[in-house]
Amino acid sequence: MTVRTRFAPSPTGMLHIGGVRTALFSWLYARRHQGTFILRIEDTDRERSTDQAIQVILDGMKWLGLDADEGPFYQTQRYPRYREVIGQLLESGHAYHCYCSRADLDEMRAAQMARKEKPRYDGRCRHRTAPVEGVTPVVRFRNPDQGQVVVDDIVHGPIVFRSEELDDLIILRSDGNPTYNFCVSVDDWDMGITHVIRGDDHINNTPRQINMLRAMGATPPVYAHLPMILGPDGTKLSKRHGAVSVLEYKDAGFLPAALLNYLGRLGWSHGDQELFSLEELVQLFDLDAVNKSASALNPDKLAWTNQQHMMRLGGSALAPLLGEQLASRGVQVEGIDLAAVAEALKERTRTLAEMAEGSLFFFHDPTGYEPKAAAKNLTAETAPLLVAARAVLAGLPTPWSGAGIDAALKALAAELGAGLGKVAQPLRVAVCGSGVSPPIDATLAILGAETVLRRVDRAIAHARGS
Ligand code: GLU
Ligand code: ZN
Repeated sequence: MTVRTRFAPSPTGMLHIGGVRTALFSWLYARRHQGTFILRIEDTDRERSTDQAIQVILDGMKWLGLDADEGPFYQTQRYPRYREVIGQLLESGHAYHCYCSRADLDEMRAAQMARKEKPRYDGRCRHRTAPVEGVTPVVRFRNPDQGQVVVDDIVHGPIVFRSEELDDLIILRSDGNPTYNFCVSVDDWDMGITHVIRGDDHINNTPRQINMLRAMGATPPVYAHLPMILGPDGTKLSKRHGAVSVLEYKDAGFLPAALLNYLGRLGWSHGDQELFSLEELVQLFDLDAVNKSASALNPDKLAWTNQQHMMRLGGSALAPLLGEQLASRGVQVEGIDLAAVAEALKERTRTLAEMAEGSLFFFHDPTGYEPKAAAKNLTAETAPLLVAARAVLAGLPTPWSGAGIDAALKALAAELGAGLGKVAQPLRVAVCGSGVSPPIDATLAILGAETVLRRVDRAIAHARGS
């Protein structure tokens, strides 16, 4: 059997991290078993579906590299097919027209409540032979009266539903629109889906879908319902927790591989291993190691995972990504080796956005000095240190090398009988404007002689004036 999985988002809200985790597990399962992964946009809720949400799904999946082998399919383009299947179900007696009015249904409900019964459609139109004049009927699915449906869920184990719990679902509205559970069933059948991997908020839909699939003559797929992702505080994930569009993670400087690694680990495990490349996830992922219980998002761990991936990638691979972040901030990067900047910063920043923020001083001279750092490091007492350091640096052959700078500054510190920090810190404030930067030798080498000496001269003037 060839595995066929699908990701079937409804474009009614922005694709967020919970949806991405569902997509990832479906994609991984297909890749792991050399199967086919299908993207299906469930856009039948025309009022709530938006083009923008569809675009976020397409762009997000592309950014993450979760490529579909088939699709995207759009349910709104498949209405003729849904109507065809409804015709077949009507013909085979698995569906029927229901002419009940709102008032009829309300009355039915009130009577059932009065008898302390669970409100449900009582099937009164099942045996109706003639249409009701002037009423456009809905079509209902004739649910089996007896027996049970067992959802043999890979994650949760068998879940039993009694047929009586399920009433005759509307599958075609009187306005001619097919309904959600029906469209999903037709699609899963037509697309030959073997494994439905989705959020466990769909568990209650599953017996209905299984009954419809059987009525259509299809073999139901295998189901794996994934537990929810919760916010860091353990409550349902919402905007407040940053359940924002997945593309915001791109803007915030997360690497796709890191986000997927983190989400892969959220609800699935392989021993104690925390870091996985995408290739490793493909090799190791399986549904049997998916947790049954919900897992909470941990922003610190996500950031840590991202940093680990940045460190693995290294400067040259990070350079173009850092370049994008800088470009979006309007920064001109000419004359600066971005690979060296990324290399110098990769151990001290957790996202590409933090890296960009931490690198801004490379691209323009400080417009001022951070007051506390300046009060300590750019003073009448430190001015002679800066003068001495400037002289030593000016004597180095260009282009500067980190090793050459390191040796020269250490020699100077030794000569002055001071620690390296004593020399390095005023220099750091002079070139960065603040007391924080990557190691001084790398920083000065990246900036180059001309820029460093210019900035040191200005800092000396500032120190003498202070
Ligand atoms: N469209 C549904 C959703 O976005 C998923 C349906 C399914 O996977 O069966 O929640
Ligand atoms: Zn009826």
